[in-house]
Amino acid sequence: MKPEKYVYLFEEADGENKKLYGGKGAGLAEMTHMGLAVPPGFVVTTEACLQYYQNKKRLPKGLMEEVQSSLKKVEEKTGKLFGSPQNPLFLSVRSGAAISMPGMMDTILNLGLNSNTIEGLIRITSDGRFAYDSYRRFIQLFGKIALGMDEKEFDQILARIKEKSGVTEDIDLDADCLKDLSGQYLALVKKRTGSPFPEDPMAQLSLAIEAVFRSWMGKRAIDYRKEFKITPEVADGTAVNICTMVFGNMGFDSATGVAFTRDPGTGENVLYGEYLVNAQGEDVVAGIRTPKSIQEMKKEMPRTYRELERVRKTLEAHFHEVQDFEFTVEKGKLYILQTRNGKMNAHAIVKTSKDMVDERLITQQQAVLRLKPQDLEQLLHKQIDPNFKGKPACVGLAASPGAASGKAVFDADEAERLGKLGQKVILVREETKPEDIHGFFASQGVLTSRGGKTSHAAVVARGMGKPCVSGCEDLHIDPKAREAMIKNIRINEGDLITVDGSRGDVYLGEAPTVDPEISQHLLTLLSWADKIRTLGVRANADTPEGAVKARQLGAEGIGLCRTERMFNAVDRLPIVREMILAGSKEARGEAIAKLLPLQKADLKKIFREMEGLPVTVRLLDPPLHEFLPSAEELASEVRNLKEVDAAFSTMENISNAMKFLDPSFRESLKPLEHMVGDIIEIREKKLDKKLIRRQQETLRKVKEMREVNPMLGHRGVRLGITYPEIYKMQIQAVLEAAAELLKEGVQVQPEIMVPQVCTAQELKWVHQLVQRVQKEVEKQYGIKIEFKFGTMIEVVRACMRAGRLAEVADFFSFGTNDLTQATFSFSREDAENKFLPLYNERKILQDNPFEVLDVKGVGRLMMIAIEWGRKTKPDLKVGICGEHGGHPESVEFCHTIGLSYVSCSVPRIPIARLAAAHAKLKEKDKKVLEGYDPDTSFSVLPY
Ligand code: ADP
Ligand code: MG
Ligand code: MG
Repeated sequence: MKPEKYVYLFEEADGENKKLYGGKGAGLAEMTHMGLAVPPGFVVTTEACLQYYQNKKRLPKGLMEEVQSSLKKVEEKTGKLFGSPQNPLFLSVRSGAAISMPGMMDTILNLGLNSNTIEGLIRITSDGRFAYDSYRRFIQLFGKIALGMDEKEFDQILARIKEKSGVTEDIDLDADCLKDLSGQYLALVKKRTGSPFPEDPMAQLSLAIEAVFRSWMGKRAIDYRKEFKITPEVADGTAVNICTMVFGNMGFDSATGVAFTRDPGTGENVLYGEYLVNAQGEDVVAGIRTPKSIQEMKKEMPRTYRELERVRKTLEAHFHEVQDFEFTVEKGKLYILQTRNGKMNAHAIVKTSKDMVDERLITQQQAVLRLKPQDLEQLLHKQIDPNFKGKPACVGLAASPGAASGKAVFDADEAERLGKLGQKVILVREETKPEDIHGFFASQGVLTSRGGKTSHAAVVARGMGKPCVSGCEDLHIDPKAREAMIKNIRINEGDLITVDGSRGDVYLGEAPTVDPEISQHLLTLLSWADKIRTLGVRANADTPEGAVKARQLGAEGIGLCRTERMFNAVDRLPIVREMILAGSKEARGEAIAKLLPLQKADLKKIFREMEGLPVTVRLLDPPLHEFLPSAEELASEVRNLKEVDAAFSTMENISNAMKFLDPSFRESLKPLEHMVGDIIEIREKKLDKKLIRRQQETLRKVKEMREVNPMLGHRGVRLGITYPEIYKMQIQAVLEAAAELLKEGVQVQPEIMVPQVCTAQELKWVHQLVQRVQKEVEKQYGIKIEFKFGTMIEVVRACMRAGRLAEVADFFSFGTNDLTQATFSFSREDAENKFLPLYNERKILQDNPFEVLDVKGVGRLMMIAIEWGRKTKPDLKVGICGEHGGHPESVEFCHTIGLSYVSCSVPRIPIARLAAAHAKLKEKDKKVLEGYDPDTSFSVLPY
């Protein structure tokens, strides 16, 4: 249906409606309502854009008439006339969708310039240089964007003229040169497009509006939306903002800049930004000249600086959020050209959240919501090891924090190619442009020789949370030769370099990195999240060190302690192998008896660290041959041993042969004689033969144990039932550890968990074993032991039998790694290596189900299991201990379906705490299970 109206003056538009007016348009409208100095203008809505595409790429009927009538109002307000040679009005034509897509779509400046209006501009300003500078910029931009010309040819002409006049900076070109340049540009347009540059300002305007609409479906914009999963529900079409031009290049009382209301790198509450005197906005963003820090404006333009300070306060008080705004000063008068919520790194979000709560600008809940769980990951980013003494090869600007190493690559296509091959690369460019975006995705970090902290490279890298060093002026890049020079050091393409975007340092080679510390501010923010969330957060941890770390990070228990991890320690493995290879029950018993005290001691340490909190100990899960060397390894070892044996027998004869040697060699043969002596001893004791026989025996056993499908074979509870001594030992270790600590007065809450259960009979069998051991231990220690008994739910049948399992189990814990494999019948390794990427690309599957919980299939099974389990036992505790437990979207799902807790890897605990708070704040229905359908109720894109 055709909307009533496509065009709204800034004062008419609703500043809240970003979908209709785009983010930029809504911001301009809002600032106009607030009384800030926004140059007059109007917005063409996103609906017009959609209509344009429906209309086979023709501007909707009546649109240009509406534009004309709004333009009239702008003319009245400014007292200027569009297209008039006496008193001309110039416009910028700017794109802007509901979601800010930095640098994704192009802006046309100085629209309305032509061979007549340029004369007017010269007359009014008495500044030919300025007028022709604007003219040549306009022709180039319009040529590139509206007429689809190749920008390089314009740049070549510019370079030639600069060379001819002997200047290096654009700003040093005089009026005549710029006039000459404009003339050559006009000729180029005619040559390449076959018709003269459009003179009629209205024709320029309608072509420009169309160009903005077209850019919505440009490759860069589509790629960006794909990468960041921007669906039509989030942003559909772009608006066009048409805004009176103000000129920052009208002399030394004019300037242009971008600023943040707080420092987006540190979060500090100070005006932060960059500006250039006598320049047009594009210069700052494109990184053509390296701008000055806004602090210098205090001296250079004190009145404007004070005004900016006022604007800063006004914006924050209104938006309750850090703003990223653009401004231009025209002959001393400050104009605000754009505002949007500032993109910050996680560190700055944390600091500003805490500060803004203290300043009563936002509530604690809002503060928690500002930090997205996935942004928090940035804080878990690597930093250069502080003990690293290496010297940076050069230093640029710290444009996006974190450290990364990789091969230096000088263009985006090559970066993408190598990145796809799984190589780590650093994209190294003089400056980046939006068309380099695919190179960013493929790189570990970005390094540029030009441009400030608000250059394209810096903004995009920050958005992606990738390290970036910009404006590294000692770096001289020769993209053609595919090399760069730092003073006299050459970096060839493919050489390893390290960028430290937190400090701006660049190192040759790979520098060591460490994980960062968690700040006090973050702890505060997380404590607010804890007040909000109802979902518990536990850790997957198998060592005392892991337990300590888990507690520090706020875990409320251990949800998964894998006992087999303890078996793998160097001092344990030989005993474990002894146990597996034992020929008789007695021999096995002996090995197991040696393992008991070790396992008990490990568990005691963990229980002690987790005093007062539950620790879920999972009985042995993997197939036993995982503890043995592989058949291939063993076979080659046996081969080697046999060769050594053969060599030994030749060596034995050497001592005889030696006697015939020239006596003068005797002395130097001493060591050899020694060796031969040793060898004879080994052979007399038959040590070599014994070793061979032992390895052959192991090999036989390994072959015997070989399974076609080990992950579906002899493992988990099945192992426990066939070798009850093993599970008995483990249960005894748990209960004795608990008993000993209880006697010391340490509060322990052990939980015994059985893996791979698929029938209630299995669980009952283990439960009886547990009860027997419990009686023995309680009698031995003379103490009652409180503990819980539960089961993993990681087999489809277990979900279907949840009601019966709950009769025996005090708790369930979803093992969603296995459950996902079982639900899809995919083996993870094969899926991820062979077909999942294609499935994702073809949209057969939206995500990798091993990373993002498949709520529709696996999730549905979980819901059934919870429902039936709790029907039997209403207070049944239910958790999740698969990797999904630390994935933000999956955490939200777990909250929604009523899980008691999630358990995740230790470093992800803060993410899970935060995600659980977000889930609570976003929850709509209290009674989730009734009529809750993951197909429809759970949008798969909560973030
Ligand atoms: P982006 O979406 O890339 O931020 P903008 O539409 O904000 O693009 O425009 C890019 C630059 O052009 C801005 O930095 C701004 O300084 C400049 N600009 C846009 N409109 C005007 C105007 N009306 N007067 C002066 N400069 C402008
Ligand atoms: Mg902008
Ligand atoms: Mg498992």
